Amino acid sequence: MAFIVAIDGPAGSGKGTITSLVGKRMNLVNIDTGAMYRCISLYMIRNNISKDDKEAIKKMLEEIKIDMKKIDGVDKFYLNGEDVSGKIREKEVNEIVSQVSHIIEVREAMVDLQRKMGENLDIIMEGRDIGTNVFPNADVKIYLDATAEERANRRLKQNMEKGIESNYEEILENIKFRDHNDKTSDVAPLRQAEDAIYVDSTNLSIEEVVDKISGIIQEKRG
Ligand code: C5P
Repeated sequence: MAFIVAIDGPAGSGKGTITSLVGKRMNLVNIDTGAMYRCISLYMIRNNISKDDKEAIKKMLEEIKIDMKKIDGVDKFYLNGEDVSGKIREKEVNEIVSQVSHIIEVREAMVDLQRKMGENLDIIMEGRDIGTNVFPNADVKIYLDATAEERANRRLKQNMEKGIESNYEEILENIKFRDHNDKTSDVAPLRQAEDAIYVDSTNLSIEEVVDKISGIIQEKRG
């Protein structure tokens, strides 16, 4: 049986960085499910597909191919063969990804894909509904949180490092908007699973969070 670690939490809580580092340390394949919804959003922008056009969405889900590869230790995302790792983090995608992820057909297709990924591999998967919906029987569930202001600061820093132009107020507004959308959605809303361990990273360094979560996994794995 594969060993499954589910990491859920709001935008900018540090899930991406933490999941990647814990995955490396604990020898688990890390999977960023937000990036999958971002690839779909980019495809919809490029092909002018409206979230209400069920026919076009069905066709898109048949045509679209999302791949993830680790190149020199960095996670890369491919949309029908094209490296879109940078493009999926841009403003246009941020603005619609939350709504796109709540289209029922999109959610079902992605959840199927995510479950398949966990069939044979020991994984650490990050998202919003991993512990509550994708893998309700995950071996370890973590809910990673931080204040909205701290999360906006982190995203700003991350964007600057990647050379993506952005501004703090805009990011904070987008984070609050996405929190609201994610938590009040009818489709797989963001919430802490009853058996998830709550980790507040607001005042913790990356290393401290990685140590804490790795310790929890170690204990469970024996
Ligand atoms: O984690 P990230 O910010 O890249 O996720 C982008 C968006 O995708 C989130 O705001 C959320 O609306 C959605 N998402 C989701 N379920 C997941 C992962 C992401 O609804 N498992």
